[in-house]
Amino acid sequence: MKSKEVLKQLRPYKQGKQTKDIQKEFGLDYIVKLASNENPYGFSDKVKELFQTNKPDFNIYPDGYTTELRSLISETLNVRPESLIFGSGSEEIIQMLCRSYLSVGDQVIMTTPTFPQYKHYALIEGAEIVEIPVEEDGSHPLETMLDAVQENTKIIWLCSPNNPTGTALSKQELQDFLVKCPSEVLIVLDEAYYEFLQQEKDLDAIHLLNEYKNLIVLRTFSKAYGLAGLRIGYGVADALIVETLDKVRGPFNTTSLAQQAAAAAFSDQEFINYTYQENKKVLAQFQDFLTSIGWDYYPSEANFLLVKTPESGMDAYDFLTRYGFIVRPGELLGIPNTIRVTIGKEEDMKVLQSVLQDYHNQLN
Ligand SMILES: *Cc1c(COP(=O)(O)O)cnc(C)c1O
Repeated sequence: MKSKEVLKQLRPYKQGKQTKDIQKEFGLDYIVKLASNENPYGFSDKVKELFQTNKPDFNIYPDGYTTELRSLISETLNVRPESLIFGSGSEEIIQMLCRSYLSVGDQVIMTTPTFPQYKHYALIEGAEIVEIPVEEDGSHPLETMLDAVQENTKIIWLCSPNNPTGTALSKQELQDFLVKCPSEVLIVLDEAYYEFLQQEKDLDAIHLLNEYKNLIVLRTFSKAYGLAGLRIGYGVADALIVETLDKVRGPFNTTSLAQQAAAAAFSDQEFINYTYQENKKVLAQFQDFLTSIGWDYYPSEANFLLVKTPESGMDAYDFLTRYGFIVRPGELLGIPNTIRVTIGKEEDMKVLQSVLQDYHNQLN
């Protein structure tokens, strides 16, 4: 048997160490997972209440049109219901985008480092990848990305705030970019960390959709909403894009459980606000601590921080793991000598800081 040639050069997604692995390996009780930018405060009580009273019919297929959640989001964002596409995580929408818009020999443009699935799925479709390194501060090199556009460019990927650097685009930057970008090129704006952005930094991307029919905005319930385990995210775009994606979408790609939970979570913006406020406070504390020991980091508008480490990121990762802190070494993210740390709860971050202080002292 012979699979697609390109698969020989790809590796299955290697997930970070799981809490259970560390428990076993180091015999630890206290473990804090700060590796996948999940919400440390859990999820909305409305979701908990929902499943205490409402037992879904697991024997019945989900609503393939996601009717209830669709109308809720379309009303709140003030977009047409036909402008929404749902996926098993926004990750699946990334996959659908590649399946729908890329053929062998097409070109895609992205920055590096960024979310690895843009590249992975594009390679599977046989596309040629142009990766342009982030600027010094971790932001998108937008001008250089535009310069790389060719006849065969199909998709440009933008991630704001960018994972793993945490830097966000400004409204002006995005607007200038959209004006200059040829309208045949699809622009994907991945806003997985949208809820962590300060209000005044909101790109207002949803409004821009009226003007730019070649733009799709991706959002997810996995991060601030705390529903990563349920796998649900959505895209907002012109109805024509959604219609195209719908042709490659599996008919029942999101579960009834996920749809109901997402609707309950979406209607609890108080929880999102709480998450936002806590994250902002603890992120600032963590940044202050790093500054106090002379460590540098990228400016973050998200719920994680990319920290520059004195030795390799792997070395810091190994040290932290022994104390029960699971972070992501930059070596695995394409940006060596860094670690990406999800901003956890205040009390856990205090402990992390003391472990980092020990690590720092030990190196000096
Ligand atoms: C986490 C993440 C996603 C995907 O999350 P899903 O769980 O698939 O919705 C997409 N983009 C970025 C940048 C992310 O960090």
